[in-house]
Amino acid sequence: MIQFDKVVKRFGDVTVLDSLDFNVQKGEKVTIIGPSGSGKSTVLRILMTLETINEGVIHVAGRPLWHELRNDQLIPASEDHLRQMRKEMGMVFQQFNLFPHMTVRRNITEAPVHVLGLSKDKANQRAEEYLELVGLSDQADKFPSQLSGGQQQRVAIARALAMKPNIMLFDEPTSALDPELVGEVLNVIQRLSEEQDLTMLLVTHEMQFAKQISDRVCFFDKGRIVEEGPPEQVFSSPREERTQEFLKGFI
Ligand code: ATP
Ligand code: MG
Repeated sequence: MIQFDKVVKRFGDVTVLDSLDFNVQKGEKVTIIGPSGSGKSTVLRILMTLETINEGVIHVAGRPLWHELRNDQLIPASEDHLRQMRKEMGMVFQQFNLFPHMTVRRNITEAPVHVLGLSKDKANQRAEEYLELVGLSDQADKFPSQLSGGQQQRVAIARALAMKPNIMLFDEPTSALDPELVGEVLNVIQRLSEEQDLTMLLVTHEMQFAKQISDRVCFFDKGRIVEEGPPEQVFSSPREERTQEFLKGFI
């Protein structure tokens, strides 16, 4: 579903992704862990087309992401191609990034109406459906500032889902939350992973949660995957010294 082939990403002189090979199968739930600056967010941001790449090729759902095929040649993707590809994916950020001047309902219906061309009625129906899924049916007319952080993050999840993406990307979705609000957001993500037919890529420091939810865990360091495997293996008996060192910080 997602395939990185020898992807290089640089910011100035700094190589952030170092010839990265990385695959996620359809329906797979993959967690990325790793130290600060290892390139975890960059991977998600590149997928959302918020960052470009310098070298390599990425495929999403069988189609090149940052390129398109013309006469059997890969050429840089047009804005139109990127727009189409973005519809495959929804992303939830650490900071919820809701539109502060819009109600919860408008936050969720805005993109379905303006990007997908849904009617207002249809989009409202969708908003209700996903607000119910995240347990916030009674909050549709509130503004983000009237909600707790956990509720705002659940709205952000509903908003991403309302575009009906095949892939959901989560970048430390609970890191900005007070500890007592983390559980409600993790419960929603857990529910999604069980009930919705989604491919999921999650960056988190919630190791217990990663263990529960993931089919596979990838440990990133310096823009490469140092180690990957089933969560039981990576967490209980990491093979690489760097993984062991990193995980020691979480006991
Ligand atoms: P964290 O756990 O702190 O979120 P991360 O693994 O998500 O870290 P990235 O955000 O992917 O790390 O950043 C990887 C590297 O790229 C870091 O060294 C960061 O400083 C650098 N970087 C990221 N975005 C930019 C940018 N827009 N301009 C310059 N450097 C950047
Ligand atoms: Mg990050």
